Amino acid sequence: MSGIILSGLSIGLFLSTPVYSQDCIQITAKEIYDPATDQILKGTSLVVQNGKIHSLTSEPNDCSQLDLSKLTLIPGLIDLHTHIFLEDKTAAVRFSDELVRLGKWSSDQRTSFAKDQLRSILKSGFTTIRDVGNSGMFLDTKLRDSLASDSEVLPRIFGTGPGIATEQAQFKTGVVGIESEYFLAKLPFKEEAFSPFLKNKVDGIKIYADNDPGKGQMPEELLKQLVTFFHSKKLKVSAHATNDASAWMAANAGVDSIEHGYGIKKRTLELMAQKKIYLIPTEMSTRVVQLVNRRNPDPLYVSARELHRKRGKRLRLALTLGVPIGFGSDAYMDLSKARLSRGELTLESLIAYSEEGLPASAVLKTATVWAADFLGRDDLGRIREGATADLVGYEKSPLKTAQGLKEPSFIMKDGKIVLFRQARK
Ligand SMILES: [Zn+2]
Repeated sequence: MSGIILSGLSIGLFLSTPVYSQDCIQITAKEIYDPATDQILKGTSLVVQNGKIHSLTSEPNDCSQLDLSKLTLIPGLIDLHTHIFLEDKTAAVRFSDELVRLGKWSSDQRTSFAKDQLRSILKSGFTTIRDVGNSGMFLDTKLRDSLASDSEVLPRIFGTGPGIATEQAQFKTGVVGIESEYFLAKLPFKEEAFSPFLKNKVDGIKIYADNDPGKGQMPEELLKQLVTFFHSKKLKVSAHATNDASAWMAANAGVDSIEHGYGIKKRTLELMAQKKIYLIPTEMSTRVVQLVNRRNPDPLYVSARELHRKRGKRLRLALTLGVPIGFGSDAYMDLSKARLSRGELTLESLIAYSEEGLPASAVLKTATVWAADFLGRDDLGRIREGATADLVGYEKSPLKTAQGLKEPSFIMKDGKIVLFRQARK
């Protein structure tokens, strides 16, 4: 069929009922960027059918026509480090108390909260997330499974279940309720203890190599046993490691990613490059540092420039050394009073990579093709025939400025249009 069925919805809106056609849609854009090949395609249109990119063509055809000729199209974004079941209203000043507060919520309450975060994240162009703990006991995998029969279009979820930690995990000493938020492990290692992860079909594992901002560190022997066990079950293991010592230990134990790695040193990055261990840097943009600084007395947040100087150095070094990098927002603070939604906060973390000196194409790759490769999904994060039709369009090309990411004009997930704003004249 041909026609203009899509032109009727071209006034700026977020669609609660997605537009979906079994018929094909031919999308013409100003340019299409494929992060996998690093190519900018001009004069090419995309044909989307049954949720997939059916073909790339320069010839008009009989499909419904969608004119995005003012937009730059890229694949839907991926966030490898979310906490959609977590919020912190204290700007990280009283994180442990916030965990206790959330522990009192019912599972339904927490899941409904998480769905709100998903809606917000989708509006910012993220079509895939990996949630890494602070999700109660397997609320993430339960929500993932329930989305399969949900008519609402939300980002697809990869879930790790609760983070595996030792001692007090990220709680303050003496607080009760740790077991309903973290999965506590100890030596001697017993396989059976970890059967809930297999029963709930987690997509990966999150381990706390250190408990920062809590006290303590996982014993190396336990970390090794956990990595060996979960690798035997074909599950990737991610280690929360903020300092160099815990990152070094985790890299040696053979984890698949280091989350945060703020204090990571060259020797550890070299080992990661050699073993192809991902760095998932969770950074703060200038705007977010300033907002946090108003409420958190930690000297870390006094100067965004100083923070970016330190963290940017290790981030650029990781790229130079060939460490695979995947985007992680670690967005968990509630900054809604400062008019920053969860989705916007997520984007700020990606913009921070640019502020720390990563080139625009690398910034986009961390949140598309490189993140998809970490998830083992070669149908995501790229533009090619047969790939999943997750697309985001921008008037200001994010290849020119990361700030362009803040204003998506078009969002499609699985071939379904969820946002379409008519381009400005
Ligand atoms: Zn985190």
